[in-house]
Amino acid sequence: MKITGRLFGSLFTVAACVAASLVSGAGADASVLGAEEMPHLDSRDPNGDLRVGNPMAMRGGAADAMLEQIAAIEYRQLIADATVQRRLLPQTDSRVRRVQAVVDSLMPYALKWNDRSRNWNWEVNLVRAPRLDAYCMPGGKVVVFTGLLERLRPSDDEIAMLIGHEIAHALRQHARVMIDDRMLRQYRGTPSAPQLFGITDFDFDTGVGFPDVRYSADDEREADVIGTEIAARAGYDPRAALAFWQRVAALDRRMPVELAAEHPVTAGRLDDLRRRQVDMLALYAKAVHLSVNALPAYGKRSN
Ligand SMILES: [Zn+2]
Repeated sequence: MKITGRLFGSLFTVAACVAASLVSGAGADASVLGAEEMPHLDSRDPNGDLRVGNPMAMRGGAADAMLEQIAAIEYRQLIADATVQRRLLPQTDSRVRRVQAVVDSLMPYALKWNDRSRNWNWEVNLVRAPRLDAYCMPGGKVVVFTGLLERLRPSDDEIAMLIGHEIAHALRQHARVMIDDRMLRQYRGTPSAPQLFGITDFDFDTGVGFPDVRYSADDEREADVIGTEIAARAGYDPRAALAFWQRVAALDRRMPVELAAEHPVTAGRLDDLRRRQVDMLALYAKAVHLSVNALPAYGKRSN
């Protein structure tokens, strides 16, 4: 299904208005996270090379508003397509409730990373498709494809680590680079509707036409750190992050996995996760009211 003319119109209106304020500098939001909210992990990074909590990345409320509005339109289109094709799982489905419960648990710990997220209208949807993949689009729009659950059979801890990672991409507005590079160029040029993720007119079974959303290696590492921290504070075992991405990498070696293409599982990422595990375990232990030494071996907790 193609995006409708009405949607095209509203998309362009939104983009034009916000892009205009971006170009003029009007509406720039200088409010950034307070210094006390900067992650303590950054200062302890032995390499000092990981951009976490960089306040500059949060500047520009106009750009963030544009991201969220366009993402919302594209999300609606994705859900509409899935509905027409009878691929959208009902909100009463146990799989939807399971993911929704994870998102609900993570949400309170996500807010400190992005003030705007207090006003996000979070949504969780599951789409029946073989993709081993999940997203959280700007504005808190979560979509999980059933291929993730069926092909990987993740534990709740693993789901929390993945969703935390995806939420971190959204909280930190990593997609902003797409606005900078792609949208402003489009806005200055032809009067065509900018597309952020391009989530329209694609084949759920083959993945043909699905957008190629890729973030930088630094953004991936930042999403790992923030996502694991959010999930650990919410009471999910951070050892699941390493386990999850190692399982994704192992599967990917046998047959390409969408999630691995979009979030390459590099040795650097796995090393980061290992290195930060002590800090994360402390957060997790506190969340579940245990001392670190009293934590059960990984995988022993039932969930
Ligand atoms: Zn990622």
